[in-house]
Amino acid sequence: MEPSLELDSLNCQHPGHSGSQIIGFCIDEKCKESNKFTCSECIFDVHSLHKLVKIKELNNLIQTKYKVYKQNLEEEKKIIEVYKASELESVEKIEKLKKDVINEIENKTNNFIQELKNKYNELINFNAKDFANLKDYEEFFIGNAAPIQNPDHSKLSEICFNIYKEGNKSSGGTPSEGASTEKPSKKSKEQKEKNEQKNNFILDNFKKEFDSYIKDQFSNIQKYINDNYLIMPNNFFNSKGFEWCEQTYSGYDFFYELSNNKSKGVKTLSNGTMTILRAKEMLENNHLYKIKFKIGLRNNGDFDVGIGTEKVGDSCWLRTKESLCISNTGVLNLDLNMDNSITLRDKDIVYLEISTEEGNKYFEGHINGKLICKLDFYLDNVYIMAAIRNTNNYIEVLEYKDSPL
Ligand SMILES: [Zn+2]
Ligand SMILES: [Zn+2]
Repeated sequence: MEPSLELDSLNCQHPGHSGSQIIGFCIDEKCKESNKFTCSECIFDVHSLHKLVKIKELNNLIQTKYKVYKQNLEEEKKIIEVYKASELESVEKIEKLKKDVINEIENKTNNFIQELKNKYNELINFNAKDFANLKDYEEFFIGNAAPIQNPDHSKLSEICFNIYKEGNKSSGGTPSEGASTEKPSKKSKEQKEKNEQKNNFILDNFKKEFDSYIKDQFSNIQKYINDNYLIMPNNFFNSKGFEWCEQTYSGYDFFYELSNNKSKGVKTLSNGTMTILRAKEMLENNHLYKIKFKIGLRNNGDFDVGIGTEKVGDSCWLRTKESLCISNTGVLNLDLNMDNSITLRDKDIVYLEISTEEGNKYFEGHINGKLICKLDFYLDNVYIMAAIRNTNNYIEVLEYKDSPL
């Protein structure tokens, strides 16, 4: 049953009105009564001279609104279902990615374990002594008692000759000085101890190095994962993503390599020459831009990030009368250094909020979560820009939001 005010049981509750039928509703702003339902008696009593509507009209209004509400609810449900399905699908894809990555690591690890095993085998074989001939000798006398009564001299000769040859080989001397006929001498005992020491030394060193190698591998992969893996691209769930423009607009060639849907620009050519990297789209009027960058400044040198007009192209950096920026030497507003205590560093996270609202244009900058400047500006037709001097330095857009004001 649809909720409706047109109920027969809706009778006046005002004492003395003997349950007369409700016919109106008081919409008078001056009315102090908490019960706004009126019967024919109320009109001359508690709601006398008040502004009223017919209960039928109120009911129609509510019913119309109720219908819209129901429709919206249905639409909302459908939208939520679509999003939920998409969410589920995305999560499944990530789970699959995780499995694939784990498999990849599993393969790599197994290959490495095999390589390591081969190395150990090499080492073990290198150290293992071959006593095969002496085992034959033992076998000849102990393993089978019968031949002792009537030994096979040619067989025993072969075994003895092999032992002789081997002893000769290992001692490296002439047959007369062969070690094979002697009991272990003092010299060979020393040699044995030396070998043991050497082996222990190799193994101790290896263990130490291997432990630090394992530690390094873990921190490498951890760092790699944190820096590069599953970083939300800035254009997810945004109508427009951020892109750097792939062309130069000054006299220089384009010295950058763009990646991550053109949101990351790495200076790859012409070390020492400052050139500008410009956003593809000009900032629109009456918009609020929120943009987060990661600064790659491992190779030092000048680095600017901010906004500027096309005119800064020939100047090759953002320290001009046509630009505002945060740099490695301060916060620059139209070539005026507002705060030279600010210096951009490697791995800094720079967040800019830029308003292009008519009469309220501002440039707000944060470094690693700390507000460092809020400057009003009056330039028109500006672009988000960066300028980098040295190769291998980079700028990456991590988040980008553009909303009309
Ligand atoms: Zn009444
Ligand atoms: Zn009233």
